[in-house]
Amino acid sequence: MPFRPRYTGLIERYRDRLPIHDNTRIISLGEGNTPLIRLNNIPDLLGAEVEIYVKYEGLNPTGSFKDRGMTMAVTKAVEQGSRAIICASTGNTSASAAAYAARAGITAFVLIPDGKIAQGKLAQAMMHGSVVIQIKGNFDEGMKLVKEVAERAPVTIVNSINPFRLQGQKTAAFEIVEELGRAPDYHCLPVGNAGNITAHWIGYCEYSSGSGAQVTEACVFCASEGHCRFASGAIVGNRPKMVGYQAAGSAPFIQGHMVDNPETVATAIRIGHPQSWDHAWTVQKESGGWFDSCTDAEILHAQKLLAEKEGIFCEPASATSLAGALRDIKTGKIAAGSTLVCTLTGHGLKDPDTAIQQSTAPVLTIAAELSRVQKAIEDNLA
Ligand SMILES: *Cc1c(COP(=O)(O)O)cnc(C)c1O
Repeated sequence: MPFRPRYTGLIERYRDRLPIHDNTRIISLGEGNTPLIRLNNIPDLLGAEVEIYVKYEGLNPTGSFKDRGMTMAVTKAVEQGSRAIICASTGNTSASAAAYAARAGITAFVLIPDGKIAQGKLAQAMMHGSVVIQIKGNFDEGMKLVKEVAERAPVTIVNSINPFRLQGQKTAAFEIVEELGRAPDYHCLPVGNAGNITAHWIGYCEYSSGSGAQVTEACVFCASEGHCRFASGAIVGNRPKMVGYQAAGSAPFIQGHMVDNPETVATAIRIGHPQSWDHAWTVQKESGGWFDSCTDAEILHAQKLLAEKEGIFCEPASATSLAGALRDIKTGKIAAGSTLVCTLTGHGLKDPDTAIQQSTAPVLTIAAELSRVQKAIEDNLA
């Protein structure tokens, strides 16, 4: 059998495209390299002439795309001598921070909204030995506190305002272009803080531009002056229209202003004050994409559809990308003949409670007898 080198994570794989030194100690759990799955049954159900791929980021080590950013953020924090990291989180950032801190042998402090994070995520943060601080407030209030405390205590913030997070997350776009042989026509994502949609755009721009260009003003993404690797003036090759979907009760990009009391079943995007507000608007304008919102009912419907018709289980927030895309395919806003990628940001096992609550099929309870099992099969064979 030919020897194939062991996959050891996205920093090793994209070392030449990331701000990393030759002798940097890399903190990795083998993140990235997630499957790009072509949907077979849902396009048929729609009767739509579109090719839909889902990027199943739930298969990262802690079950969400946050690991792509966290491997970079924690690697750089350790390189810079930090002994502790801190984040505010709707759940997945804290799960990821806790795991990578454990791997690095440093301390993670995580601020989460009291009672508003999914069980699986809380279990991860506790299991990995992070210091879990529940606040009687929402994500936005937690984020504000984290920024304030980091000015007073020796802790490195690993929320997506940490620029290394976006650097790690941009690699998802690299993987997609490498597998499709080109960028898709549309890339749909759920949007909370809007870090991920920004990171993907950085990745697509960087991949399609090759070497970058001279810029006269400071680049909005990397703040470099002079030569910038992401400068849009330099872009050759194709890039997708970036489409961001939010939950209707938590939709500052659709309302056009910050939202103070965001509410949605999709707790991972229950964010009213997005940290990457300006960046995301730049992404929308540069890519020619748009923002829109989905109701909780549409989100849960898409989550169920994926699970039942394609065998793919994602958490509610993740299904927002497909929920919005299905609507925009129906109305023709996403043109027939297009290729699109929907990012499924997190695994369905993160939030078993919501999944069980919305399951309609009854669980059959019967006597432990052959005849009863046989009957159950006969009754339910399609
Ligand atoms: C963090 C997260 C998001 C939102 O990503 P942003 O970068 O904050 O826009 C969406 N879905 C899941 C599952 C997440 O964990």
